[in-house]
Amino acid sequence: MQIAGFVPTTMVDYPGKLACTVFVRGCNLRCPYCQNGSLVLPEYYEELLDEEDVLKRIEKRRRILQGVCVSGGEPTLQKDLPAFIKRIRTPDLPVKLDTNGSRPEVLEKLFRDKLVDYVAMDIKASPGEYGKVCGINGLNTDVFKRSVSLIMESGVDYEFRTTLVGGLHDEEQLKELSRWIAGAKAFTLQSYEENERVLCLLDKKPAEFYSFSAEELCHFLDLVRENVPSAQLRYRN
Ligand code: SF4
Repeated sequence: MQIAGFVPTTMVDYPGKLACTVFVRGCNLRCPYCQNGSLVLPEYYEELLDEEDVLKRIEKRRRILQGVCVSGGEPTLQKDLPAFIKRIRTPDLPVKLDTNGSRPEVLEKLFRDKLVDYVAMDIKASPGEYGKVCGINGLNTDVFKRSVSLIMESGVDYEFRTTLVGGLHDEEQLKELSRWIAGAKAFTLQSYEENERVLCLLDKKPAEFYSFSAEELCHFLDLVRENVPSAQLRYRN
């Protein structure tokens, strides 16, 4: 596993649990508003952590931790992800996976082998706008549709999440997006927030987008609730 970061305790990454979070390096998308540009752009990669050392740190905290979150970057690109999870996961220490949903075949295997307890998938955009919002021309959206179906049918706890970005998302797109995931058990909307690590700024490109106001976010929440009544807004402090 290419581990680029480790947060030993967090209350925000795994819903309802005191968890630690492992951040892997590398991603196959290039969302311009990505908050983790240094995990995505090779020229900004930082030194990797030693996997055995991270495993030891998790082991040391096993008695206080209630879960482990594997995030990124995109964890499903790591070929030894299943082996890594097998070394951590027990009935007392469940594993949550954060994914962009681009590799449904990996999700399928993880579900089949019962290796994940919770999946959070980013829904970047409505299917027609996916490539634009993810910064990849000609992106095949079928894989994301397949991941959504797999997750909803898996029986595993899950959450879909959309980061709302002014200039990339609008009413019509959110209506279409919410029709796509209609009836989802959990759907979180969060607002884009600029910081110096945002991918396009690291990449020396202008940020041609902005954060929505609180009123606009509430309006979007009302819209998507027509198809996804479980939708919630998550505010960052
Ligand atoms: S926000 Fe986009 S580019 Fe950043 S890690 Fe997630 S999928 Fe990759």
